[in-house]
Amino acid sequence: MSFMKSLKCRECGREYPKEALHVCEFCFGPLEVDYDYEGIGKVLTREVIESREPNMWRYKELLPLDGEPTVGMQVGFTPLVKADNLAKVLGVRELYVKNDAVNFPTLSFKDRVVSVAMSRAREMGFKIVSCASTGNLANSVAANASACGMESYVFIPCDLEKTKILGTQVYGSHVVGIKGTYDEVNRLCSEIAGKYGWAFVNINIRPYYAEGSKSFGHEIAEQLGWKLPQNIVVPMAGGSLITKIAKSFKEFKMLGLVEDTPTKVFGAQASGCSPIVNAVKGGHELIKPVHPDTIAKSLAIGNPADGYYSAKTMINSGGWGEDASDDEIISAMRLLAETEGIFAETAGGVTLGSAIKLLESGRINKDESIVLCITGNGLKTQEALYGKIDGPPVIEASLKDFDSLVQSSGDTYATAKS
Ligand SMILES: *Cc1c(COP(=O)(O)O)cnc(C)c1O
Ligand SMILES: [Zn+2]
Repeated sequence: MSFMKSLKCRECGREYPKEALHVCEFCFGPLEVDYDYEGIGKVLTREVIESREPNMWRYKELLPLDGEPTVGMQVGFTPLVKADNLAKVLGVRELYVKNDAVNFPTLSFKDRVVSVAMSRAREMGFKIVSCASTGNLANSVAANASACGMESYVFIPCDLEKTKILGTQVYGSHVVGIKGTYDEVNRLCSEIAGKYGWAFVNINIRPYYAEGSKSFGHEIAEQLGWKLPQNIVVPMAGGSLITKIAKSFKEFKMLGLVEDTPTKVFGAQASGCSPIVNAVKGGHELIKPVHPDTIAKSLAIGNPADGYYSAKTMINSGGWGEDASDDEIISAMRLLAETEGIFAETAGGVTLGSAIKLLESGRINKDESIVLCITGNGLKTQEALYGKIDGPPVIEASLKDFDSLVQSSGDTYATAKS
């Protein structure tokens, strides 16, 4: 049973049939999926959700499909880690890390949006799926297409991390590197989508794709014991995830699944590509495009499609925007790894690096609950750490050599035990 009614323009409210459409013909506003929330409220209770498999489809009534999902059945329900060690370092009381660095199958939150977009693309009869990507979307489209027997074309800026390119080609996808920024790749893909009629998950079927991000927020609320956090810090590229997390909380309140408590929503970007944060700090919602220059390539979108709505989401919630420099990104990646044993990609360094600055400036209250959104895996962006961490000492396979190494290291704890 489907509760998806139609597509609706976010600006003028005009309704459209649930097809491969994404912009309003009249006002050029973005289209969004509209649901029968009254119907959903009659079937979707905490008990029903808790009785289901631990994956993102436990909230399927709130996802935009006519039938049952067919792609990415194991995606989601990643750990919400109570980060007490990191909390101690930061001097905060209640801190959590939502860890999509271990999302199945390609170790980023993009597996959520892709499983929804591709399930929907199949329902609509598409044979070829495609995307413009900053890396993680490429990995996920390629893997999920192979798993469900679809053909995929993936377009990326040619200077992406080698791991992300290899981690797309390995699935047998048609990968095309473009000499240009993501924004140029995206513009080309809009033309290709019009001419070739493929399902570009983040372009012509974007309204369905974007809804998949809500499950990230739904899970946080459920994993907190059916409660909302007081603060959440979200990394932003195109700015879709942050708006959909806010939407997911709103839906749960509306359905009576959680109490109506406020959450301040904070957006994080790299200083080398922070058009949305610049707008928030400048006190307006108008996004001025930038030319990206940062190691956080997965977030390097200079002209973010949902920039305006994400700025509004932060400001209306009482939150704020912050950015982290490349050095701050790297030290935050290391801090998260050293305190919580979580190796996040550069985007995770952006989230934690920005959170640290938001705590220092008092924008986030240290006594309130805080969730940090970790959206991708550090094994995919190891290049960022090359030359930043010294190699390990190398010794002969001899106990004597090891003894002298321990002695010379001055590690009294280790020597005391011998
Ligand atoms: C795509 C991506 C995001 C943010 O995506 P939005 O375009 O803002 O929805 C965040 N983190 C990582 C690792 C990503 O790949
Ligand atoms: Zn409109």
